[in-house]
Amino acid sequence: MNKSNLIDPYSRQITYLRLSVTDRCDLRCTYCMSEHMQFLSKKNILTFEEMFKVCEGFIELGVNKIRITGGEPLVRKNIIDFFMMLQPFVGSKLKELTITTNGTQLKRYSNALYKAGVRRVNVSLDSLDNEKFKEITRIGKLQTVLDGIKAAKDSGLKVKINCVALKNINENEIEPFIDWCLKEEFDLTFIETMPMGDIGNENRLSNFLSLDDVKTKIKGKYKLKDIDYSSGGPARYCKFEGSKIKLGFITPLSHNFCATCNRVRIDATGVMHQCLGQSNSIDFRKILRSSNPSHQDIIEYIKIAISDKPEKHSFGFDYSKMKIEGKINRHMSMTGG
Ligand code: SAM
Repeated sequence: MNKSNLIDPYSRQITYLRLSVTDRCDLRCTYCMSEHMQFLSKKNILTFEEMFKVCEGFIELGVNKIRITGGEPLVRKNIIDFFMMLQPFVGSKLKELTITTNGTQLKRYSNALYKAGVRRVNVSLDSLDNEKFKEITRIGKLQTVLDGIKAAKDSGLKVKINCVALKNINENEIEPFIDWCLKEEFDLTFIETMPMGDIGNENRLSNFLSLDDVKTKIKGKYKLKDIDYSSGGPARYCKFEGSKIKLGFITPLSHNFCATCNRVRIDATGVMHQCLGQSNSIDFRKILRSSNPSHQDIIEYIKIAISDKPEKHSFGFDYSKMKIEGKINRHMSMTGG
């Protein structure tokens, strides 16, 4: 596997690309989107060929992991065709091709994803209770996601569950989630809500739950030990004693782990964001459509963009003022979570 030639100004090796293939989603999670979202028109979204051209550049420069995300990536028409375009790299230049999904389409696509070289999927799931799930997603059915998760497992895909921890909403489900994941042998990561995009009635503060508090409570009930496993990302992991299952915590507001950041994101319009919580960016759609760049040109643009990667995001939570800081004017569904 190549060592990455992409080194940012803070000596971090960039090995991980998260690519959003659509801003559309078949759910409307309250902390992620407003109820009536304006989605992009098709012409503003990169074609598979355009996305592939950019991915090829990243892969050549040593990126060895690509995560396809969205919006909901599996609602993009013919999405498996795009996975198949990347499949030849899997196991050679790409250590991993993977996806983050809400699970609603997994029943339909799990086998095809496995055939395309995907071996692990992250499924976002914030409640195991039918009514609560409906309340959070506004329009979703829990059973569809559970069926999708089962299909993924049956296809041989390893499942990790990502759960956004929300005060007054699902904070009473922390233990049920852990018990379910222990039983099903799914790794589990809790995520703090981040101040991204307008979600209608701005209720982020009332729903912000510090994962420091959650972790302390979990430690009171389960035997956990911290481990130094890292995906190079913002999660910090523990293991349950007597189990293989990892429990992760992503705490952008309580702590930042930007010093080990190894990733960049490209949103559905082809704009690359060097940091989730800053506005540095480069517009690959504009580059691709205005100048017909060669492979080498793309490589040079990627290098320039990486030289502008900020040191850290500016999300934070000021306890003295009880205020969330560092709001970014983009939805996660647009940037790709
Ligand atoms: N539709 C796919 C899914 O549900 O996993 C991929 C896109 S979704 C935007 C990716 C992840 O971002 C999900 O786990 C979602 O819960 C999370 N997310 C969305 N908005 C967020 C926010 N404001 N703060 C924290 N996590 C957020």
